[in-house]
Amino acid sequence: MKTDEWVVAQESAERGVNVTLGREPNPKVFKSFTLGMIKSHAVVDKQVGSIISMIEKSDLYLLEARLRQLSPPGGAAFYAEHEGRPYFEGLIKSVTSGPVFALLLGSEDVHAVTKWRGLMGATDPTQAESWTLRAIFGTVMPFNAVHGSDSRESFEEEAEFFFGVLPGITRSM
Ligand code: ADP
Ligand code: MG
Repeated sequence: MKTDEWVVAQESAERGVNVTLGREPNPKVFKSFTLGMIKSHAVVDKQVGSIISMIEKSDLYLLEARLRQLSPPGGAAFYAEHEGRPYFEGLIKSVTSGPVFALLLGSEDVHAVTKWRGLMGATDPTQAESWTLRAIFGTVMPFNAVHGSDSRESFEEEAEFFFGVLPGITRSM
């Protein structure tokens, strides 16, 4: 029987993703991934280290990272599904107001997307649980410190947006 785990690992293998970090005797093997992004206001406020520190205290792993200044068209493309919403213009302005720090995160189980959304907390920082990233580092929407994919499909699109293709995680130079 094909379990979710099998399907994810198989699809990753088909796409050429190397799903390990480190080598023998203690390699980590990943079954799922998500795209995180530290938003501009948190980067400019020098909260990157504190946010990464919380990621490293969780059971998610940081596999790739990239600091990028988005242009207004780039920001609009990343948030295309929100076009037409009343907050769209403010969202794009906020996410292009300085560099963002894109993160590829991996989990040893199949729950990377939901684990990262759990660590981020509710979209509105004023509603987020006190221990979550958005409560700690966010203020009011759209300044909620971090972004996370909402599905495996959006992860694939967003990872491609920032990293070109799904990266080979243990790719050597
Ligand atoms: P999430 O980031 O939790 O997936 P959404 O996809 O609904 O949430 O929204 C994308 C981003 O748009 C949010 O993270 C937030 O920065 C911004 N946003 C959403 N709703 C509002 C709103 N009502 N007012 C201002 N900004 C908003
Ligand atoms: Mg979303």
